[in-house]
Amino acid sequence: MIWNEKAECMSASEKEELQLKRLQVVVKKAYENVPYYRKRLDEAGVTPNDIQTLEDIEKLPFTTKSDLREAYPFGMFAVDTDDIVEIHTTSGTTGKPTVSGYTRKDLEIWGEVVARALSMAGGTKKDIVQNCYGYGLFTGGLGVHHGGQKLGCTVIPISAGNTQRQIEIIKDFESTIITCTPSYAMYIAEVLEREGVPKEDIKLKAGVLGAEMWTEEMRNEIERRLGIDALNIYGLTEIIGPGVANECMEKDGLHIFDDHFYPEIIDPKNLETLPEGEKGELVLTTLTREGMPVLRFRTRDITALQHGECACGRTNVKMDRITGRSDDMLKIRGVIVFPSQIERALLKIPGMEPQYQIIASRPQHMDELEVQVEASPNLFSDEVRHIEEVKRSIEKHIHDEIGLRVTVTLVEPQSLPRSEGKAVRVIDKRKLS
Ligand code: ZN
Repeated sequence: MIWNEKAECMSASEKEELQLKRLQVVVKKAYENVPYYRKRLDEAGVTPNDIQTLEDIEKLPFTTKSDLREAYPFGMFAVDTDDIVEIHTTSGTTGKPTVSGYTRKDLEIWGEVVARALSMAGGTKKDIVQNCYGYGLFTGGLGVHHGGQKLGCTVIPISAGNTQRQIEIIKDFESTIITCTPSYAMYIAEVLEREGVPKEDIKLKAGVLGAEMWTEEMRNEIERRLGIDALNIYGLTEIIGPGVANECMEKDGLHIFDDHFYPEIIDPKNLETLPEGEKGELVLTTLTREGMPVLRFRTRDITALQHGECACGRTNVKMDRITGRSDDMLKIRGVIVFPSQIERALLKIPGMEPQYQIIASRPQHMDELEVQVEASPNLFSDEVRHIEEVKRSIEKHIHDEIGLRVTVTLVEPQSLPRSEGKAVRVIDKRKLS
């Protein structure tokens, strides 16, 4: 079912006309109401009047995560806090979180796009949505909540964790749609199997899964084991939260709700816009947000756009499944990890040099992180017991830094591969492409 046929099946010319009109308004609002944008546009010698075509968006400067961070807490708001009715933030694991403020109209837009996403999964007001995304400052929980209610579903705000209870609710409330991370869906499947609950005995028909990268193989596995259609949802707090894009039942790319979010693909190295269909970094501009308009936000997510009408009837541009990041950032079990954090942890241990390599893998469908650390020559001549102690101490320091348990392997000095003298810090074996 298509939730909003008018918005989702527009002709290309209608869409472009609407996008341009909205872009002109949002640039003007950002320029007039957000000192940051006024300064950046002035520096670039651009005024809102310079936006005469959609291509003119390329005249605008990019916004990065650190720009948003510097504006902490409310520096990017375009309206008075009187008009902000809800606030969310990123987790802030690597510094100050970025804050997102929503007016009442922004919440309506958010509900609208998530309602479209849930409809793509076959959702109607008859459905019972078990929302296992975390509630709180994280956008996952409340974003899906607003959309589910807009669609008229019965939303169960169970939030993340407590798998036993999740299973009880799946059985007792006969939930039909589950929303969570793909790895959590996999875990629920495992627990159901362990408890001998056949998939025929549960009423789940679809999963709207996101907040981490996943593969086609994982989709097949989740679908087979839970007996559902597993669809990919995409979004980010800086833009609105979940509901920027979602897969339809064709399962061949995610429709971006491009009447609200304008996508571009750039080369992350030279920042040039790439021709249609080429793979690069996704850049998003909010076309309708009042509380916090964001112009040309660099998502760092790598994808490509597919134009044209989809077999489902929607004309919203599609993006490929995200296959990586343009920086060294890793997302492990939904938690963002930067190599610099591992480095910081190692440097807290006296005598330890930060020569390391991070290896992400996904055995048994759950992300695992191994950190190989070069030990000093004298440590290797030491007793085994001591080596074991050092290993545990490193694991503890890393855990304190990133909040995740990792396996540390001590390797011989100078044994980690180096490329042009620089260590290769991250190896991602999860085969997400
Ligand atoms: Zn489609």
